[in-house]
Formats: sequence, C-alpha cells, structure tokens
Amino acid sequence: MKFKHDVVIVGAGLAGLRVALELAGKVDVAVISKAYPTRSHSGAAQGGMAAALGNEEEDSWEWHMFDTVKGGDYLTDQDVAEILAKEAPRAVYELEHMGVPFNRNKEGKIAQRTFGGHTRDFGEKTVKRACYASDHTGRVMMDTLYAQSVRRGIKVYPEFQVVDLIFQDRSVAGMIAYELSTGELHSFHSRVLVLATGGFGRLYQVTSNGYVNTGDGASVVYRAGLPLEDMEFVQFHPTGIYPLGVLISEAARGEGGILRNSSGERFMEKYAPTIKDLAARDVVSRAIIKEIREGRGIDGKDYVHLDLTHLGKEVLSEKLLEIASFARIYGGIDPAKEPIPVKPTCHYMMGGIPANSHGQALDENHQPVAGLYAVGECACLSIHGANRLGTNSLLDLIVFGRLAGEKISQELSRIPWMELPGQPEKATTGHIRALKERKKGERVEPIRRSLQALMMDHCGSFRTGEALGKALAAIQDLKARSQEVILDDKGSRYNSDLLEALELRGLLDLAETIAVSAQARKESRGAHFREDCPGRDDENWLKHTLILKNEGKPRLFYKPVTVTRFKPKPRKY
Ligand SMILES: Cc1cc2nc3c(=O)[nH]c(=O)nc-3n(C[C@H](O)[C@H](O)[C@H](O)COP(=O)(O)OP(=O)(O)OC[C@H]3O[C@@H](n4cnc5c(N)ncnc54)[C@H](O)[C@@H]3O)c2cc1C
Repeated sequence: MKFKHDVVIVGAGLAGLRVALELAGKVDVAVISKAYPTRSHSGAAQGGMAAALGNEEEDSWEWHMFDTVKGGDYLTDQDVAEILAKEAPRAVYELEHMGVPFNRNKEGKIAQRTFGGHTRDFGEKTVKRACYASDHTGRVMMDTLYAQSVRRGIKVYPEFQVVDLIFQDRSVAGMIAYELSTGELHSFHSRVLVLATGGFGRLYQVTSNGYVNTGDGASVVYRAGLPLEDMEFVQFHPTGIYPLGVLISEAARGEGGILRNSSGERFMEKYAPTIKDLAARDVVSRAIIKEIREGRGIDGKDYVHLDLTHLGKEVLSEKLLEIASFARIYGGIDPAKEPIPVKPTCHYMMGGIPANSHGQALDENHQPVAGLYAVGECACLSIHGANRLGTNSLLDLIVFGRLAGEKISQELSRIPWMELPGQPEKATTGHIRALKERKKGERVEPIRRSLQALMMDHCGSFRTGEALGKALAAIQDLKARSQEVILDDKGSRYNSDLLEALELRGLLDLAETIAVSAQARKESRGAHFREDCPGRDDENWLKHTLILKNEGKPRLFYKPVTVTRFKPKPRKY
C-alpha cells in the first residue's frame, strides 16, 4: 500500500513520541515502530532523568552543564550542553503535567537522587539531581507519553519495520517499510521524515539493550550516502548482571551501593578518590576490567561484586524494587543478603546521525538535509561527547524531541513534497525475493554471533590498533559471508528470520564505522580507550569524527568541537 503523511516519525520510543506530541493537532503526523510502541527500549530506563531543580540541595544548570562537558571528556559541543542543562527543569515539569508519577520527597516536591558524574561546585561533591519514579522511570514515562499520543489521536503503525529511505535530489521523499504481521512492503510518502530509532547495543555480545536495538535508523542513513558521527564512542555501563549483562541501574550506587573486588576492597577509592563509585561510567567500567585483569575478580572469574546489603529492605523495596527483582531472576541473588555479581555491559551509543540542536540531520557539508530529522539515541547532537552521563539520555529525548517538533512545525510549509519513483519498493522487493529464493549458503545467526563476539573482544572498553585491525579484517570476512545468507523461514507472517537478515546488513556497516573511526583516533578519550595511545591528545584530536560511505568504502573526515564556557582540562573524579 501507499501511505502519505506530512510528517512520518520512525520510532515510538520517548524521542519519537515527544516529537509527535509537539506536532499533534497542527500537522498530519504518523509514527511507525517495528516493536509495539510501549515495548521500545525507553521503557527499560531505570534510574532517572537529570535536572538541576535543587529540590534536595543547592544545584545549578551551570554545574549540570559542566558535568555533562566533563563527563563527555570535552568532546561535548558546549552550546548544545547549555541548552540541555537550561531546559531540563522545564522538561521535568512538562512530564509531570502530562501525568508522569515522579517520586516525592517529604516536602511533597519531586524527589532527586545522586548519579554518576553529577556534582556540585564543579566536581567537588556529588549532588542529588536525578528525578525518578522508583527504578522504572522510563516505564512510567513511556506509558504516559503513549497514553497522551492515544488521547491526541496520533496515527501509529505498530510492527512496521523501515528498511530503506527514498531520496530525490538529496531531499527526503519517503521510505519503505515491511509490515511484520503480513510480510507486505509499503511506501510512505512524506515531506518530513524523523528518525528516532534508538541505539545499537545489539552489536555487542553482552548488552543491556533490547532485541530491537539494532541501529536501523543509523544504518539506512549511512547506506543512503549520508555521514555518521563519533561512532567510536560506545558506552559500557559498569554494572550488568553477570553473565547476561542485564542492567543494574547506577541508581543502586546513587543510593549507596559499593563495588568490591575479591578481597572485599572498595576499589573505586583508588581510581576516583573524590566521588568513588559514582565516577563517570567509562572510568568505573575500566576500573572493573582492570581489577579482573589483575586477578582481583571474584573467585578469579571475570566479575566483581556490587554490594547493596547495607542499604536496608526499605530502600530496596521502595527505590530499587525492579533491580532487586532482576538480581533474583537473572542472578539468583537476594540483594538484601548477598552482593550482586556484575561486569560492564554495552549500554549506549554516543555516536549516530549528525544533527543540530533542532534535530535537523546534517550532510557532509554540515548542512541540513532537506526533510530529514534525527532525535534520541540514533542521533548525535554532540551533547554526550565521548561519554554520556547517566540520566542525561532521557533528558536529551524530551528536550530535543520538543525542539525538533517546534522546528518542524515552523519549517513544514517551506518543505516541498518530493516525488516518489513509480515503483518505490522495487529494489527492496528484489532484495527480499533474492533472500527467500537462495538455496545454498549460511544462516544469519552464526554470522551475527561472530560479529557480536568480535566487537566485544576488539572494539570494547579497551582497544589497540592491532586488535582494531583484526576486527576490520574479520568484519570484511563476515560481510562476504553475509552476501550468501539463506533463510529457514520463507513465510510472510512474523518472519523474524528475514528481519534479522535485513538487520544484519546494517549491523555489519555500523560495526565497520565503529572500527574504522576507532582505529584512526590515536588517543584515549571518554569511552574510547586505546592501550597503545593511553593519553588524551587535545592538540590533534579535539574534534568530531565523521564517516561516510564513498564508493562502497568508508571515508573519514572531521569537524571542530564547540567550546564556549569550559576550556578542556584533565578529567579527574
Ligand atoms: C536498560 C536501560 C536502562 C536505561 N536507563 C536510563 C536512565 O535511567 N536514564 C537515562 O537517561 N537513560 C537511560 N537509558 C538510556 C535511554 O533509555 C535510551 O538512550 C533512550 O531511551 C533511547 O530512546 P529513543 O527514543 O532514542 O529510542 P528507543 O526507546 O530505543 O526507541 C526506538 C524506537 O525505534 C523503533 N525502531 C527501531 N528500528 C526501527 C525500524 N527499522 N523501523 C521502525 N521502527 C524502528 C523501535 O521499535 C522503537 O520504537 C537506559 C537504557 C537501557 C538500555
């Protein structure tokens, strides 16, 4: 079928829904989602959303901005971080008015708790800045925004997977989506296309991310010949439950949880003497891996302990209810009685589709691509720099979702309808038919598993030029193997075999962009740590990486970082 809307938003997580709510009632807007909307990964967010409300103790937007810039190891564009920090209180009140049931303190104000890297007085001491609803903050935000979008009558296409974008004269004309329940391909014609497809933690073997997080938005953009930015910066969260990687939120340490090694030592005192267990995530993740490498993992294995036993039943049942149940389900542990085995887990992508603070996607000349927007984790507005602070993502979605919505409503009348070609879905139909008809070859799963394992081994928290070289060679090999994949399921209804084959193509491209960008960056900054170049090198590398597909091969180029208030300094916690 052919569908037509002024604005089509791909992704029904918090970023996509926030844009949609801004446009509802003003323009004809529709939302497409491959997962049922409320199953989007935003619903898994646990710990909270940052805003310098100062409800518990003195706080200021300037400290929040500083923490964001320092957390990002100075790769953060400071003009955008300023918007984030200044707009944060408004974003919280907006959500409160929509119905998000935040926890309250004794005075009846929105309660706040401490989180990694959030400080007062420019790094002197931790501060209570994260607004939360127990440890299911994302869940209640998702449910509230989805309820609002139903109330406002926003058209949603659930379980439609976008597979290709269509451009005319370098402007967006529309896209092609596959309907999961029927196997039909549909074309969507729109003046504006907003990508809000989330991250791609599924590229790694151990991850906190859901199955849908395969980075489709970033990969369709890259395949269309547009750039991706800062792809080498992949965040590992320190506390995934061993061995699966299911997340134990930083809220656990925010409420007083302590990391301990095999001798029971609080080892973060060595690595971050000022704020210890609440240092930025890249710092804590590397410390854990170092402890394990030096033989101080629990029982010589590759995990350490997260000790919550001293917090008491009340904190566990009122503020950390969900993670206490995760510890029981996935670790067989009662956190009130025993420490939880944890190790770093792939969590968040700082890189993605380059976009400005209005969410307009940018081309290789840093100019807006007509009709194309990117918001949320799939976008790179350079807010989070080389390492995102906990609770700044939910904030990013709400603040920049609104700003993108405002820009779209201002610009829409000036954006023309580009024509769709006669048979827009022809190329995609051909690709799917070839996949279904192939009789000889390899299944998708072993290729995907090898990819996830090699990303974990060579493109994780510690990297070297040599390992990245090996990763690149292996990715080429997997790309060649992926040309010959076969499907067991040739059917049309909920054919996950086919969908995974389509996702694999994108994952391989994204893996390549990460490895190429990381190999070129010969310094260590934030989440990108090169054992063969361990220092930060502002003279040569205070710049953003951009990567573009050029005649089938990745090509790198760079752009400067915007520095306004805070000159780069060594980062210590
Ligand atoms: C376990 C966990 C806990 C977290 N906790 C916090 C926290 O406490 N605080 C915080 O600030 N951040 C947290 N984060 C990070 C934060 O939740 C995410 O970065 C954020 O929710 C991403 O939102 P999004 O709207 O960009 O994407 P998502 O919520 O991931 O949504 C992506 C949407 O795109 C759709 N989609 C994807 N591909 C396609 C396609 N091809 N076609 C159609 N639709 C598609 C999906 O169906 C989905 O609707 C957490 C992350 C995880 C994994």
